[in-house]
Amino acid sequence: MKTKLFILLAALGGAMLLAAETPAGPKGGRLLESSPLKAEFFVTKDRKVEISFYDAALKPVAPGTQTVAVTAEPASGRTALELEKTATGFVSKTALPVGEPYRVVVQVRATADAKPQNFRLDLNLALCGECQRAEYACTCDH
Ligand SMILES: [Zn+2]
Repeated sequence: MKTKLFILLAALGGAMLLAAETPAGPKGGRLLESSPLKAEFFVTKDRKVEISFYDAALKPVAPGTQTVAVTAEPASGRTALELEKTATGFVSKTALPVGEPYRVVVQVRATADAKPQNFRLDLNLALCGECQRAEYACTCDH
């Protein structure tokens, strides 16, 4: 019994270590280490991009002066997605272009004239069999 408990705790510790390496977005998306607010990149069921802002404790917060630009880079050509502000971030007005996997660049600025922070993601919407998250937000170490 004691041995089983030890294995369980060791497994839990390992899982927590993994989570610290690749933080998971609260909505199931990819967490971007932007500052001062963290941002989550999430693709909705209708393929729209949703950006949510969080404070250090991962509580959703209003975007304030933050601005975001999202560019999809499918083989058919680069497309900038038009975004509209929500209570806790931004959502794209249109769906992502077809033809993934392809590169998506998310540019976050603390204010409109601040230095941009760029995040490059490989947009793959297939589910990862291990963590059951979409591959673009996969938290496994592979
Ligand atoms: Zn995974």
